[in-house]
Amino acid sequence: MPLKTEAIVVGAGVAGVMTALSLLRKGASVTLIDRWEPGHPRASSSDYNRIFRSIHGKDEFYTRWVREARLRWMELQEEVGCELYHECGALVLAGEGHSDWEDATIGTFEKLGVPHFKISPDEVRVRFPQFSVEKVAYGLYEPEAGMVMSHRAVVETAKLFQREGGRIRRGHVTCDEAERLHLDGKPLEADTIVVSTGPWLGEMYRRTIRPISKIVRQNIIYTSTPDADTTYDVGNMPCWIDHGFGAYGIPSIEGHGVKAAIAWTEAIIDLDNDERIVDDATFTRTRQYLRHRLPGLVGQRAVDQKACQIAMTPDTHFILDFHPEHENVLLSGGCSGHLFKHGPVYGEFAAGVALREWGTADRFKISSRGTLSAGDSPSGR
Ligand SMILES: Cc1cc2nc3c(=O)[nH]c(=O)nc-3n(C[C@H](O)[C@H](O)[C@H](O)COP(=O)(O)OP(=O)(O)OC[C@H]3O[C@@H](n4cnc5c(N)ncnc54)[C@H](O)[C@@H]3O)c2cc1C
Repeated sequence: MPLKTEAIVVGAGVAGVMTALSLLRKGASVTLIDRWEPGHPRASSSDYNRIFRSIHGKDEFYTRWVREARLRWMELQEEVGCELYHECGALVLAGEGHSDWEDATIGTFEKLGVPHFKISPDEVRVRFPQFSVEKVAYGLYEPEAGMVMSHRAVVETAKLFQREGGRIRRGHVTCDEAERLHLDGKPLEADTIVVSTGPWLGEMYRRTIRPISKIVRQNIIYTSTPDADTTYDVGNMPCWIDHGFGAYGIPSIEGHGVKAAIAWTEAIIDLDNDERIVDDATFTRTRQYLRHRLPGLVGQRAVDQKACQIAMTPDTHFILDFHPEHENVLLSGGCSGHLFKHGPVYGEFAAGVALREWGTADRFKISSRGTLSAGDSPSGR
């Protein structure tokens, strides 16, 4: 009998746990290493939930991946026996005069047969009365979209991985000047090593990854729903994206309140040293936005907050490529704010690349990174 491939996955965020589980299911012997417990709040995969949507402008690759991921999340939630995916729909509010990304998405949806509705501002008002439609050109509603319960998904997938024979250990993996990996003062060795340390990937690989990875702080505020009112609960309200304001949000689920984030592309974060608490400016900006877009929440108080980060690549494509000098080390990450939803598909693809069952996609290679226009970008950023 052939010996099992020894695999190590460093980093137990969504990319790491999904890759580790897939490697295990492909027959490898797998150890997953993280500095903290899977689900910890510093990771980009933290927080209660993430938006799940096929909406990716003209990018067919990610659109197809999300369509596949939708089925995978449903399968996974059956396996783990708790809710991971809520299909509450996603609504994009296309701004007057700024709808290139939304227009391109409609073209992609029509080509690939993704269910969607283009609705007028008046229809938005009737179907989703929570939203004010000032300066909205149209709404693009994707019914087979919604949210993934991110923290729960990471924790439950890690437990599933362990139940199936995977090992999880706590440890801080470091890189030396030659970008060789070490743990506890010894070289880290295995047949294949996948480094999926999310925003920390650029700190570890200062030469190889840092030039294509910019860390951007993301601040989230949860606002109370009005007393005795279910209007803002999941089931009555979709997730939404409001590019004109660089904003997005998620309806209240399991009592968390309405989640809203305003993207602040220049905000910085010290990954290991900052307190994970949002600043006053974020409260002010989020309140101003809610007053404008969700006026029924005026006067409601913040009930929770999260301070987190994303690793942006110049073209917003993920990174999944072997280290140029260490051929058994696969670097995985560059989330660019949209990796979570792809989790199960991303993990299986990464596992196949790590085991050399197939090559990576050109878009995920470390070299040849350029910037994309908002119209070409999969995330519209
Ligand atoms: C506020 C916010 C909103 C987002 N919204 C969405 C959304 O709506 N939809 C969507 O699809 N995506 C969204 N994203 C993006 C998505 O959450 C990320 O793409 C995804 O979680 C990245 O996962 P990751 O596994 O690459 O990184 P992480 O989750 O950060 O995991 C990296 C892990 O590596 C560990 N680690 C780091 N260094 C070391 C080391 N040296 N040794 C050992 N372990 C180490 C860390 O402890 C961590 O657990 C959002 C992100 C943020 C921050």
